[in-house]
Parts: sequence; C-alpha cells; structure tokens
Amino acid sequence: MSILKNAIDSIAIGLEDYQSSDGRRIASSTRNIFAGILLLFKHKLCELSPPDSDESLIKQRVLPEMDATGAVNWIGKGKKTVDVHNIKERFNSLGVAVDWNRLERVNKYRNDIEHYYSTQNLQSVQRLISDSFLIIRDFISDHLNEDPKQLLGDDAWAILINVNEVYEKEKSACVDALETLEFFSDEILSSFENYSCNECGSGLIMPSKKNEEAIEVEYVCKSCGNNLPYEDIIGDAVSEYFSHEVYLSHTDGGDSPITACPECEGIYLYSEKICSSCGHTAEHECQRCGSTILPEELYAEPFCGYCEHVMSKDD
Ligand SMILES: [Zn+2]
Ligand SMILES: [Zn+2]
Ligand SMILES: [Zn+2]
Repeated sequence: MSILKNAIDSIAIGLEDYQSSDGRRIASSTRNIFAGILLLFKHKLCELSPPDSDESLIKQRVLPEMDATGAVNWIGKGKKTVDVHNIKERFNSLGVAVDWNRLERVNKYRNDIEHYYSTQNLQSVQRLISDSFLIIRDFISDHLNEDPKQLLGDDAWAILINVNEVYEKEKSACVDALETLEFFSDEILSSFENYSCNECGSGLIMPSKKNEEAIEVEYVCKSCGNNLPYEDIIGDAVSEYFSHEVYLSHTDGGDSPITACPECEGIYLYSEKICSSCGHTAEHECQRCGSTILPEELYAEPFCGYCEHVMSKDD
C-alpha cells in the first residue's frame, strides 16, 4: 500500500507545483509527476511478485534460492529497484501493456526541461501533464482495476482533466492549421505534428498562414512565442520522426529511411523519393547499369556508387 500512496502523493505534489505561480517549481512539477508514474508501475510489480520473494519483481537483482523442500525460488536482493528499462522489460514479459512511446515523451521532456530548454513556462508543461494523464488514467483502470478519479482524489483529477482538455483543444487547432498547408509529403506533415519547440518543448506549433506551401510559411510556438521558419524546424522534425526506423536499420540491417540530399544540405526521404528541405526528387535507378541506387550511394545520382567509381577511373 505504501508504494501506491507514494505514487498518488507524488502526482498530487507535481500538480501543486504546476499550479504554483513560482516558475522555479516547473522542473519539480515534471520530476514529481514522472516519479509518480514510475511508482504506480512499481506498485503493480509488487502486486505481481510471488509471496515470500522479497518483492522480487521490483528489485534489479533477483537470485535463485533453494528452500527446505528443495524447490528453487527467485528472491529479490539488495536495495536497488528497477529503472524504466527494467520495468518495460518486465511488463512486456508479463503482458502488462503501457503506451511506451508516450511515456518516453514524458521522460524526454522531463530530462530536457532540466538540461536543455532555455525557456520554461507553465504552458509548455501542459503537454507533459496531458500525456501523463492518459498514461495514469489507463494504467489505474486497466492494470490496478481502480477508479482513477477515486484513487487520485477529486482535486488532482480535476486538474488533470482540465489540462488535458485545454491542451488537446489547442493541439488539434494546430494540427488542423498544419493540415491546410502543402507539404512535400505526408510523412513531413506528420513529423511537423510530432515536433516540439526547441526552446520550451511545447507541441503547440502553429503556422502563421493557412493554405500555402509549407516551406514558405513561418511557424510560431503558442507556448513561448518562439518564431521558427520552415528550415529551422525541418531537420529536427524529420530526424526525430524517423529516429526509430534509423535505429532499426542500424541494429537489424536494411536500408536507412533517410539520407543526405544530393542537391542541398537537407535530409532526403529515401522511400518517399523527396528531399524534406528542397523538394528535390532524385533518380533512384542507375543510368549506366540499371541497378537501384542505394541510400548511401545517392550522392552519385544518377549513377550507382559502383558505376560512379568505374567512370571516375576512366577519366
Ligand atoms: Zn516554445
Ligand atoms: Zn535537398
Ligand atoms: Zn550502376
């Protein structure tokens, strides 16, 4: 029971920090809310731990011990408890579903607000609270089988609902406006919808005009007022959006989804056949041998890396 109480207290304190007028409590707000979520997860792992195992599932070290009957039991050892990575591994293996992408976003924001963002304002925390709300609500009702409103208390629940509604409303206004613009590809539109302001981390990025070409428009962060031209957003937005696929292409092999544009300094979307910065469409078939030009050979376009090499020798 005590871990669960700590979780609820931590979330409540985080929300109090958020409501305070003291800007210095912003980082504390994000820390407390994130800690509260992890405590909820740990509470679940405690519940699932076998009896007499010293809460093995929340301990980083778990060792087998033999009891008087000769049976082997896994017993939790030491004081170190599980971190986010351990929790994810154990939940996946136990079939406890959590929206990990959303949690990762909360964790990244919490970290960035302490170390990276130069602008910190209350509005930019709304996204973290909104994401946290959905994780907390679903986890409590799906995996703790409790009523989230009752467990969190009316005050905390009201703040969470309210922030989530305000944020979702503003976010969908931004998305609606972005969708009137003409992007080089739908993937780029999606990457803009996922983009967070580089000053404050807010996801409320609004174009200054509608129904124009995306590349011609200025963008403004509705939380901190940061003005961003297309070229300041595109690199970060696209690399963030494809980061998981790029990671997979490194670990599991296969082609990278992005590569350097042969025409400009921008990021070329290989499967979309278009540069996210200049809109250039490269030749993907070698004009000499007809083979496919791979992402890493695209600099040699309209030839493949091999033909380019052979021809440069002939010169
Ligand atoms: Zn901002
Ligand atoms: Zn380009
Ligand atoms: Zn070739």
